[in-house]
Amino acid sequence: MLLQELREQVVYYGRQMLESGLTMHTGGNLSARDRETGLIAIKPSSKPYDLLKPEDITVIDIEGNVVDGPYKPSSEWPMHTLIYKTHPRVCAVVHCHSIYATAAAAAGQEIPLFNHELCMYCSSPVRVMPFEIPGSDALGESAIRGFGTDNCVTLLQNHGPIAMGASLWHAFDAACAVEQAAHALFITKAYGQLQLIPEEGRKALRACDPLQREDTGKVEIIAV
Ligand SMILES: [Zn+2]
Repeated sequence: MLLQELREQVVYYGRQMLESGLTMHTGGNLSARDRETGLIAIKPSSKPYDLLKPEDITVIDIEGNVVDGPYKPSSEWPMHTLIYKTHPRVCAVVHCHSIYATAAAAAGQEIPLFNHELCMYCSSPVRVMPFEIPGSDALGESAIRGFGTDNCVTLLQNHGPIAMGASLWHAFDAACAVEQAAHALFITKAYGQLQLIPEEGRKALRACDPLQREDTGKVEIIAV
């Protein structure tokens, strides 16, 4: 089977999204790119995560043409391919409609860097981008602006979070991190003043992300 390992990973992390509460039923989508061929294994459209098998996963090329698989790709495939075109070192994208991150996005509440998990994936507070129609090219362009050159996570207003990473492990971890941070932020506001992680700590944590390097003190996504 073409891209067997990546298709198995898409199934595995799709179930993880379901079990960890990041999504429900068919909501959200995820994909992984093969470093050698550039082909992308992506969740098929409108299929429940718990019923997916590796052979159900759709394989597309960077223009969205279906190469293998019985079903149409997720309707949000243009956002995935635009991310891969823009960030050549990124090999996975996870997008979900998790409750606290979606609520923060709806309120226009950016997520400050106050927990160490999120600091691994972001150098700046997680931005909230204006609403765009799901599946549109504009949604993908909005996600790209939301990531900027410093973050692997952004929030799409009235929609949900999106995360990118060097692997599905990292993209899923980043999606968990923003949901956890949004949830904790909600509670922290009841306790009192939010304390941010000091800049030195944030930089050290950010350097743990495989997409990052320290270069004259500035942390950036490497685009090669
Ligand atoms: Zn969506």
